[in-house]
Amino acid sequence: MNIHEYQAKAVLREFGVPVGRGKAIMSADEAEAAARELGGPVWVVKAQIHAGGRGKGKFKEPEAGDKGGVRLARSIEEVKTYAQQMLGRTLVTLQTGPAGKQVNRLYIEEGSDIASEFYLSALVDRTTSRVAFVVSTEGGMDIEKVAHDTPEKIHTFSVDPATGIMPHHGRTVARALGLSGDLAKQAADLIGKLYAAFVAKDMSLLEINPLIVTRDGKLLCLDAKIAFDSNALYRHPDIVALRDETEEDEKEIEASKYDLNYIALDGSIGCMVNGAGLAMATMDIIKLYGMEPANFLDVGGGASKEKVTAAFKIITADPNVKGILVNIFGGIMRCDVIAEGVIAAVKEVGLQVPLVVRLEGTNVELGKKIINESGLNVISANDLDDAAQKIVNAVKGLKAA
Ligand code: GDP
Ligand code: MG
Repeated sequence: MNIHEYQAKAVLREFGVPVGRGKAIMSADEAEAAARELGGPVWVVKAQIHAGGRGKGKFKEPEAGDKGGVRLARSIEEVKTYAQQMLGRTLVTLQTGPAGKQVNRLYIEEGSDIASEFYLSALVDRTTSRVAFVVSTEGGMDIEKVAHDTPEKIHTFSVDPATGIMPHHGRTVARALGLSGDLAKQAADLIGKLYAAFVAKDMSLLEINPLIVTRDGKLLCLDAKIAFDSNALYRHPDIVALRDETEEDEKEIEASKYDLNYIALDGSIGCMVNGAGLAMATMDIIKLYGMEPANFLDVGGGASKEKVTAAFKIITADPNVKGILVNIFGGIMRCDVIAEGVIAAVKEVGLQVPLVVRLEGTNVELGKKIINESGLNVISANDLDDAAQKIVNAVKGLKAA
């Protein structure tokens, strides 16, 4: 689960991590009030969307005076103007994809005087099963590009969970960033606090880009991105409360209510499959026959009729779906239950596109019988290969081979 920058900074503040003062707002009037309260003389107006690269982002349908999603304002009037210009518009960054994201919220922050910008992140390293830190002097830019062009400028180390952060980690960070004296002490203190926050809140990623040194010699987190491990959310109601569903795919939210593993994709064949492996194989074979899947959907091992109906509705609600392929191997799951779920869903939501059903496993004969006797226009398939060809041909308007 992802959260906004302003929320991430509030979480970090709880752990004593140095972040600037700021206020999240949703209207230009609130922006003005926030700017007045913060005092100035310089403010930063920052678009709050679940994507980075905002500073270099561009708004859709450009207007005169556009300056991207992170702007420095030198008067309260300017804060208000920027807020008016940014709210409600769609910001496209390297991370949003071409569709961009609508800016509904801004963060007004006190401006910082930057002496240098660094990169610092923490993540779960699956190879070592430890929390790993990545630090670099090359802050404020695309870290993937730094890793590719100048890998020697990236320093990583992992932390033994038994000991946690040790003094030598602090020295490593200070050395990597070229800090000495009081700044080295601040760096050591900072990573101790970041590590504590990371572990306590079950984060999967914590990225500070940039971490800055201000002109008056203070380390400060100027940007913050946090992702949390969804499997641990049950023990963090305070974090769950930060969820902003307007930032997430509607279909994915609906799917999560029914405990369906659903990921929206760009293609045109909707897939309903059980088991992640079979789902992957189904997507591959659709591609093999020249089309693209509209989603990944694993209905799970013991799906009920209600779950199948919900899954079907989510697939048909996607206007990109031009055909549906149901591919179920009934092991624990019975084919007749699937068949009933599919029929119930089709009766409820209607069927505007071709539907191919391939069933195999427990009660397969009964399942096929239910489908065949339903009177619905369902194309039945015998195996995976047959099913993929049939749906691709049906969508392309070709006769089955
Ligand atoms: P991102 O583009 O989404 O990663 O947003 P950031 O929060 O990282 O901001 C982008 C850039 O704006 C930073 O790398 C800074 O160079 C600049 N910036 C952000 N806040 C301030 C500030 O308080 N003062 C100054 N001078 N620049 C800032
Ligand atoms: Mg940034």
